[in-house]
Amino acid sequence: MAQPTYHIACLPGDGIGPEVTRGAVTVLQAAAAAYGFRLEFSEHLVGGAAYDAAGTPFPDETRDACDRADAILFGAVGGPRYEGLPWDLRPEAGLLAIRKRYDLYANLRPILLYPPLKDASPLKNEIIGGGVDFIIVRELVGGIYFGEPRGIETLPDGTRRGVNTEVYTDAEIARIARMGFEIARGRRRRLTSVDKGNVLEAGKLWRTVVDEVAREFPDVEVEHLLADNAAMQILRRPGDFDVMLASNLFGDFLSDEAAMLTGSIGLLPSASLGAARNRFGLPKGFYEPIHGSAPDIAGQDRANPLAAILCGAMLLRHSLGREDAARAVEQAVAAVLEEGLRTADITVPGTAVLGTAAMARAVADRVH
Ligand code: NAD
Repeated sequence: MAQPTYHIACLPGDGIGPEVTRGAVTVLQAAAAAYGFRLEFSEHLVGGAAYDAAGTPFPDETRDACDRADAILFGAVGGPRYEGLPWDLRPEAGLLAIRKRYDLYANLRPILLYPPLKDASPLKNEIIGGGVDFIIVRELVGGIYFGEPRGIETLPDGTRRGVNTEVYTDAEIARIARMGFEIARGRRRRLTSVDKGNVLEAGKLWRTVVDEVAREFPDVEVEHLLADNAAMQILRRPGDFDVMLASNLFGDFLSDEAAMLTGSIGLLPSASLGAARNRFGLPKGFYEPIHGSAPDIAGQDRANPLAAILCGAMLLRHSLGREDAARAVEQAVAAVLEEGLRTADITVPGTAVLGTAAMARAVADRVH
């Protein structure tokens, strides 16, 4: 039987983006070889690199390539050189254009503490000792970051007033909730929904709709937490969570808080999924490490490629339906850490430090 071929648009971007993305491609190719499918990568400009070459952070050529692709693998964008540009020419505008174009309403951020890195976590062993493995599912295109009315106005008496609006429709809540429940079904079947229904109407509706959607998933256990309490419980009992569902605002805060549990920003992948489907009927996802372009270490082969590599695993799982290969990549990452291989950001005195390319090669060699 012919091997399936998947098309991936690769957008390395700026700073360490190209280095870590190259590492992810190396590992993805190893996974394709091991599991009998083909990956075709096409590389396109985005962010500052695209602005330098084409005068825009999201050129038409890149957009068309993303339209054709089954999934998009993204590095990072930005850098001090671009900070003075008008908003629509700044590198981040390229990122937002992609989120908007594919209505990427769900941001998935796994929070996984690798046992050999326990000492890199700021939490005590007695709290994280039992393991930390949950995923935050954050609504990404609604809520207070987009709600109208918004703005800063000056009233007739000279008072200045800043306004933002937390607004969610039942349909917006239901689709992200459904995504959360589906993901919980593939994990330990527990979902924690976060809201502020005690003081916000949008939060009250959030809880009501989550409970309505929960009826479609009787096999998933549901817990509701107020957002302030959720922030506390992440530090108190992080091992209890499986899927944490949150609005755009609360998900933003809680995912950064939770990321701290795991050691280094260079380890954390994310996926953004939406309604857009690829040729296989699966989400045409957008996969990016949570770190930025790290101009301080760019071009020095010092960046940790594991976040980008783990983005590759998420891409295999969510956009290509290759759970087998996704797990193999995740196990290979766990294996290199178990063996004590480290990049500079997670090293401890006495261990040898690998560069970006060598670390990626080490992971690729362990994908079986
Ligand atoms: P950053 O994530 O780029 O770097 C923060 C710190 O973490 C730096 O010390 C950096 O060296 C380190 N770091 C980041 N990734 C690492 C990796 N893979 N391995 C080892 N160390 C790593 O955040 P910043 O310094 O605030 O931002 C730098 C630029 O990146 C800015 O222009 C910012 O706008 C942009 N940015 C882009 C994205 C994105 O593309 N999604 C996200 C955040 C920031």
